[in-house]
Amino acid sequence: MRTGDTPFHLLFNPEDGLCPDRKSTKRHLSDVKHIFYNTKKTEQVLKDGDPLVYEFYELSMPHHEGDLAFGTSITYPGTIGDEYFMTKGHFHSILETAEVYYCLRGKGMLMLEHSDGRWESEVFEPGHAVYVPKGYAHRSINTGDGPLVTFFCFRADAGHDYKTIESKGFRYLVVERNGVPTPMENPNWKSY
Ligand code: MN
Repeated sequence: MRTGDTPFHLLFNPEDGLCPDRKSTKRHLSDVKHIFYNTKKTEQVLKDGDPLVYEFYELSMPHHEGDLAFGTSITYPGTIGDEYFMTKGHFHSILETAEVYYCLRGKGMLMLEHSDGRWESEVFEPGHAVYVPKGYAHRSINTGDGPLVTFFCFRADAGHDYKTIESKGFRYLVVERNGVPTPMENPNWKSY
């Protein structure tokens, strides 16, 4: 019997977002160093260590169109220069699939970008449910002082396309300007 074929439950701690019975996927700075626009700052930070930037759960749910994939994502607080710690971000391999994120703890943003040029940033605060329409790449950004914990759910066969964002970047980044999280055009962005 595969996970997902029978009813089950899992505990996700609402304080730290962690699931004690499952192993998370961790992304340290060295794994995601190309996502930050200030490459010099990134190298400087890496000289002093390799901080954990985020972790999330992939529960090896069945990958059929009628199944759901879910889990938590925890983005840790920190900055590279004026840019906040964030996830790599991705499109779904099946572009016509949406997703919903529910913020349990912390403060941040979800950056959303469509290949037709539309983009949007939504605020994450505890209690906020953010809808990612089909066709939008999405990235979590921690603009607060503690962990940003969200719970997500999407169609299990959607798949992740990380490559498109890896090669192009997001059109807008979020940087700190006078203490305020502010979208900024990505100087390294490559058009579709
Ligand atoms: Mn997704």
